[in-house]
Parts: sequence; structure tokens; C-alpha cells
Amino acid sequence: MTSVDFPKHQKAKALKPGSRRPAKELCSECGLCDTYYIHYVKEACAFLNQQFDKLEEQSHSRKRNLDNPNELYFGVHQEMMAAQKKQPIPGAQWTGIVSTIAIEMLNRGIVEGVVCVQNTKEDRFGPMPVIARTPEEVMAARVNKPTLSPNLSILEQVEQSGMKRLLAIGVGCQIQALRTVEKQLGLEKLYVLGTPCVDNVTRAGLQKFLETTSKSPETVVHYEFMQDFRVHFKHEDGSIEKVPFFGLKTNQLKDVFAPSCMSCFDYVNSLADLVVGYMGAPFGWQWIVVRNDTGKEMLELVKDQLNTQPVMSKGDRKAAVQQSIPAYDQGVTLPMWAAKMMGVVIEKIGPKGLEYARFSIDSHFTRNFLYVKRNYPQKLAAHVPEFAKRIVGQYKLPD
Ligand code: FAD
Ligand code: SF4
Repeated sequence: MTSVDFPKHQKAKALKPGSRRPAKELCSECGLCDTYYIHYVKEACAFLNQQFDKLEEQSHSRKRNLDNPNELYFGVHQEMMAAQKKQPIPGAQWTGIVSTIAIEMLNRGIVEGVVCVQNTKEDRFGPMPVIARTPEEVMAARVNKPTLSPNLSILEQVEQSGMKRLLAIGVGCQIQALRTVEKQLGLEKLYVLGTPCVDNVTRAGLQKFLETTSKSPETVVHYEFMQDFRVHFKHEDGSIEKVPFFGLKTNQLKDVFAPSCMSCFDYVNSLADLVVGYMGAPFGWQWIVVRNDTGKEMLELVKDQLNTQPVMSKGDRKAAVQQSIPAYDQGVTLPMWAAKMMGVVIEKIGPKGLEYARFSIDSHFTRNFLYVKRNYPQKLAAHVPEFAKRIVGQYKLPD
């Protein structure tokens, strides 16, 4: 091949680490600009070009049906369920369904590699994206690295390796950019396994969150904002520390979340083939959203390793969401005894299953809508997708 035959993007220059990205402070460090695929950034970047309709059609052969209440919230899907691995993977974020699917796809030769994120040698939460080619390498990527992670920084390696069948694991902003450049990767088949994602932070932001919220920040190995309205921190010795959401020091934490995440409306990873999270499932279970036939094919590979049950929905989130809007806006922090009491009451009578997922989506979308309106008013109309406008429109917002 002579140089004139190279696809145009291969001539583009990746940006140097630390240099300012096209999305400026809204950059989520998805990794695309660390590669020559920066050539497509204006179209691909989730923060420069909101294009859910077009990419849903490309990925799932149709747009989401906004008149179907479940699709409005959870995106295009064929089915949803709650699931647990019969034998959970020790050290996984939940029961390890994500890692199990990836391992199964490698073992059966369905894909040659898996884009996933391990941690650096020095830092258990330091993200290190890799293309895993063995089950051991996938296992080394289990558990969330709760920081912005440049997963797409390995895209040049995909094209250069000549790999034809790939599984990519990632969060919404990474997947939006990936879907836009998908056709340029030289693949025969791309499988996309997504997780929901919200309130992500830079590594420095993570440190501040741990230090303001946990009693022992240096021993935290894993944490999650749980359906019982508490943050559960797992420590090195296996102990679990629980801090009620309502006791979080919101005044100190307001600036901790990355601006990209404060302006994101893709909580449920709309463009993945299959999504594995937890928030639409009963406590202790994972939540699975099958978006299309490719997602179904992936789930079928592990179905015999799972206990499953139908999704359920209980309670009414609306009053709690409406009350949380001014409380967050004004950075209110309750005294710990009151926060604990409120947590117990809400856990007993509060939203469960899909209604809890709606509670979390509503709370974040209203907050993010206000953030974009106040900080990027010129972006508001085009950046906020129609489904989010409808969800936010159910609530009374401050100016
Ligand atoms: P594991 O088998 O432990 O595998 C985890 C996988 O996540 C690994 O393959 C790894 O490559 C990938 N990963 C780890 N860190 C990152 C990262 N920073 N970026 C991209 N990929 C990564 N679910 C909800 O229902 N609600 C939420 O609010 C929510 N927030 C999340 C926030 C973040 C930053 C992440 C990464 C995930 C979030 N999830 C959320 C998903 C959930 O926490 C679990 O990751 C998911 O249920 C899979 O669990 P598992 O045990 O099957 O995963
Ligand atoms: Fe580039 Fe990704 Fe940042 Fe957008 S979010 S500027 S595509 S690295």
C-alpha cells in the first residue's frame, strides 16, 4: 500500500497527553483524541455533537419510541431482566456478568480481542485501557475504575492489528464516539457491551470524594451508590462502610464530578448492544437491558450461568425527585443522624426496581439540565436530547 492509499484519518495527528481537547473542559477523556481517529472528532465527540437518533438507528435499526414509557427512560430494547451469576466472580464489581460474557466470547472464538480497562501497577483506581486477548487479561480488568478512562486510546492498535472481530466494553460517552468511527476500524463485527455510568470523576476528584466521604479512604477497594440510598464502600479487610446519600457533603462535592458527566444524558448507555448495570434490579441483583439481536446473542452465551427474574417496579419517585432538586442546588447537607433516619424511611417506602432507576435518572437529568442551562446556554437546545427534555419537563426547576 502506498501512502496515497491510506485512509485519510491515518494522516491525522493524535493530541499529546495533557493538551487541551476539542471539547475543552467538557472532555470526558474518552481516548478518541489520543488516536488518529481525532480526524472524526467533530462528529464523534459526545460533547460536541449529540446524535442519539442517528446512532440508535445505525446500531439498533430504529430510534427509541418516546411514547413507550420504558423506552423513554431506558432506550431501545427487546427485553430487560434482573440477573445474578450462580457463582459470582470474586473481586468483580457486582457478580461479574460483564467479565463472564467477555471471557465466553474469547473462549468460543467469537471475538479475537476485548477492549477493557485494567488498573496501573501503582494505583488500583488508575485506569489502563487494554485489548485483552486471554481470559486472564479480561479478569485483570474486572471491577470499576471509578474515574474517567481513555478506553478509545487503543483504537489505533485495533486497526493496525488486523483484528476482525472485537468486543468493546465501555460507558456511554466512549460508546457514542466508538459507534461514530465503527466503520473505519476495518472490523467484520463489533460487539458492544455497555454499563450505565453517572457522576464520574477525574483521579484527583475521586481522591476528594473518598476523603470527604469515607472514614478510611486509603483502604477502599470498591464502592457503589446502592439502591438502599447509601454509598457502600468495600475496604481491603472485606468490611463494608455505608454512608447515606442524604448525608453526603454536597456543598464540598458539588465541583467534584467532571463537567462532562454534569452535562451527560446517556446514563443508560443507549448505543450498546447489551447493557449490564444494577439500578433497575432489586438490591443484590444486576440489571440487564438487551437492545438488539447482537445483545441477545451475547447474553445467550452465559444464560446457563445466571439466575434470572423479571424486572419489577414499586413506589412513586416523583415527590422525592422534586424535593431533591432545590436541596442539591443549594448544597444542603443533613446532620448524619437525620440522614440515616431519612435513608431508613426512604428504603422502606421508597422507589424500587425500575422505579429506583427512574428516580436516579430524573435526579441526574434535572441536575444536568440546570448545569448546561447555566454554564453552556448556547449548547442547551442541541445538546439535550428530546427524551431528556421530556423527562426533565415533568419537574419544576429553579432558574
Ligand atoms: P465486572 O465483571 O467487574 O467488570 C467491570 C467492567 O467494567 C470491566 O470489564 C472494565 O473493563 C469496565 N470498566 C471499569 N471501569 C471502567 C471505566 N471507568 N470506564 C469504562 N469501563 C470500565 N450501573 C448502574 O446501574 N448505575 C450506575 O449509576 C452506574 N454507574 C457506573 C459508573 C462507572 C464509572 C462505571 C464504570 C460503571 C457504573 N455502573 C453503574 C455499572 C456497574 O457499576 C457495574 O460495572 C456493572 O453492573 C457490571 O458489573 P460486573 O460485576 O458484571 O462487572
Ligand atoms: Fe476527544 Fe473524547 Fe474528549 Fe471528545 S470526549 S474531546 S472525543 S477525548
